[in-house]
Amino acid sequence: MRKVVILGSTGSIGVSTLSVLEQHPEQYQVLALTAATQTEALLQQCLQFKPRYAAMVDTKAAQQLKQLLQQAGSKTEVLAGAEALCQLAADSEADIVMAAIVGAAGLLPTLAAVEHGKTVLLANKEALVMSGELFINKVQQHKATLLPIDSEHNAIFQCLPAALQQQSHNQSIASYGISKLLLTGSGGPFLTTNLAEFAQLTPSQAVAHPNWSMGAKISIDSATMMNKGLEFIEARWLFNCQPDDIEVVIHPQSIIHSMVQYTDGSVLAQLGQPDMRTPIAHALAFPNRMSSPVSPLSFKQMRDFTFTEPEPERYPNLYLAIAACKYGQGATTAINAANEVAVAAFLQQKIRFTDIHRINASCLEQYALSKVCTLEEILQLDQVARHCAEQYIKDNC
Ligand code: NAD
Ligand code: MG
Repeated sequence: MRKVVILGSTGSIGVSTLSVLEQHPEQYQVLALTAATQTEALLQQCLQFKPRYAAMVDTKAAQQLKQLLQQAGSKTEVLAGAEALCQLAADSEADIVMAAIVGAAGLLPTLAAVEHGKTVLLANKEALVMSGELFINKVQQHKATLLPIDSEHNAIFQCLPAALQQQSHNQSIASYGISKLLLTGSGGPFLTTNLAEFAQLTPSQAVAHPNWSMGAKISIDSATMMNKGLEFIEARWLFNCQPDDIEVVIHPQSIIHSMVQYTDGSVLAQLGQPDMRTPIAHALAFPNRMSSPVSPLSFKQMRDFTFTEPEPERYPNLYLAIAACKYGQGATTAINAANEVAVAAFLQQKIRFTDIHRINASCLEQYALSKVCTLEEILQLDQVARHCAEQYIKDNC
């Protein structure tokens, strides 16, 4: 029986994880669930999965959850505050930690799991984007196992030679005959929208992804393709490669989840439904396989498979993130922070869709060459870049 902690259990990835675990009660036990503020959703999950612990960042919400669980006769112990998440991620009984918090808020609890040598299933790409080398060094130092959940990185991982899967963060991909990692993306809801309409696009248009159902932040990031930019940086660290080793390809059908090109001309791809329960089941069972609730692909129903290059005028945020990846750690920390502020402001209808790029570009320009090494320096630059983005919004939007 492997014991699982889900950080961010009430979100899209958290719910998908529970849906996979539900099918395998003989193999996995839910040890702890955590959420920011969604008391009702966490209550229902606790009643169904009976975890030993539940934690909420918001103390009032935690208090309320505690009362409701007691009334229902539940034995789940409720903890409160951001520190409680780190404590649960590090719990001596935890085997697997699913890192599914959205944004920079996931960094410290995910690092806590890494520092305690857990098997970390990484959905929270922002944690790796903001701390890259430090994160990977800690994985190696503490002998943690890091498995990618992001469908593209999970696909690439599945297409790697088995020997490289064991140590993909420190070996060179070239020494295994790999010439390129091909990161696919659907192009989001605005793949064919007239560019002249971009300034007027609304949050509800932007969250309506054609193929995937996801949380609000990653849905907006998919519309701007900043998501692919963050994934570019994520791939650079997960697979120990350089920006020139990674290429982004638009594949609107979202059936090929990414590919690995070898020097002999072979290209290996992983295909599947656009459903996160496949990569989640893969990572939970790795190196074995287990069933998931996802329906099999039907090649009789499938029609075109198309591929194009992302247009720079349509997806300036993608190219900004690639530039940040080339600059280095300070740049990626800063652009991640600016983007979180910009996306939140867009969702609150305080700025236009096209302002997201202006904010990110302005912060990148200011902090591209910042040097950050320690966790303290990273967290400080994250805060400084957030202030920079907020100030830009006040002055220019
Ligand atoms: P979501 O918004 O649906 O859920 C986020 C979860 O994090 C919720 O449980 C929420 O309570 C918790 N949370 C939010 N703010 C928090 C805070 N400050 N402190 C602690 N917990 C907090 O997000 P999601 O779509 O499930 O995405 C989660 C992560 O997975 C993101 O990093 C995203 O990029 C990545 N991801 C998601 C998908 C997807 O299909 N949804 C695919 C690939 C990668
Ligand atoms: Mg992805």
